[in-house]
Amino acid sequence: MPNKLLNPASSTILANNMTRLKITRRLGSCCLLLWLLVAACGSEETTTQPAATVTEVPKKVVKIPVFNRDSAYQYIAKQVSFGPRVMNTEAHERNLEWMVRKLEAFGAEVSRQEFVARAYTGEDLRGTNVIARYEPNATDRILLCAHWDSRHIADSEKNTGRTDVAVDGADDGASGVGVLLEIARHLGEVPPGIGVDIVMLDAEDYGESGADNPESWGLGAQYYSRNLPGGVKPRYGILLDMVGAKNARFTVEEVSEYFAPEIRQKIWRLAKRMGYGNYFVEDESRAVTDDHFFINRIAQIPTIDIINRPTATTFVDHWHTDRDNMDNIDKRTLRAVGQVVLATVYREAAGSLR
Ligand SMILES: [Zn+2]
Repeated sequence: MPNKLLNPASSTILANNMTRLKITRRLGSCCLLLWLLVAACGSEETTTQPAATVTEVPKKVVKIPVFNRDSAYQYIAKQVSFGPRVMNTEAHERNLEWMVRKLEAFGAEVSRQEFVARAYTGEDLRGTNVIARYEPNATDRILLCAHWDSRHIADSEKNTGRTDVAVDGADDGASGVGVLLEIARHLGEVPPGIGVDIVMLDAEDYGESGADNPESWGLGAQYYSRNLPGGVKPRYGILLDMVGAKNARFTVEEVSEYFAPEIRQKIWRLAKRMGYGNYFVEDESRAVTDDHFFINRIAQIPTIDIINRPTATTFVDHWHTDRDNMDNIDKRTLRAVGQVVLATVYREAAGSLR
């Protein structure tokens, strides 16, 4: 996950546009209210008409698999066991091969999108986005994504040790991938009835801290967005980043709310109905230049970020430190996120996600 807020210029544009959006939405609710009043009056009149034959439309039964939090936890531990998944390292390569084998074993149609990207340091990074497709011929598709690389330096000011060492990225990177792998396992067992593209994005976390250089982050997402694989473009996307910590707070992040408000709202509503409203909170948080920023702007796939931001402007204390290890992974959080995203997929397929 990046450390950077959008640059001030982008934020201003965003802020202005958001004010406009809010005004439009308010007008929208007035119209809706008027329509409801008209509709209510109309229904009174129809009571004098002969009763019409009502045919009951049988409701589709949606069977949602139970997300196994222990599996997800093990997938995170496995990634961490390779060592920090830093670009151009052996640990990164080994993790890639393991992840691809897992997705293949879970019945996905797997392809690799290889690229070379120039880092802010001048290095050339060899990256691989992994694309795992379920129901590849379905014309209605959803994108689920997470980044699988880990940061090359522990450069948060909250780091207590050396800052020039790589982070484990148990939460920042591995948690999103772990949850998606467990989801993939279910999609392989119970066909979702809708196309699902799981994309493990590379080279997210090699960006330049504290500089006005948003393009230095999310290099894999930028490549993916400019080189969308053939076939049907997903209708919308869900990014998971830092979804493993105890008492995580998935606040309403500004970029998600700007580009994909309806999607954000329906998933948060679902989470509340499922009893996970303590994780999926309605507090707003400032924009982050995470992978979804590029997928929204370049690929124009409306994409939300489920990301742990305890307050409007901060990240968790272990972020980009030597403490981002398995000690910070909480199975209850994994279950909350995993079950909500699984339910989103199967409900979307059944047309019962509102
Ligand atoms: Zn990060």
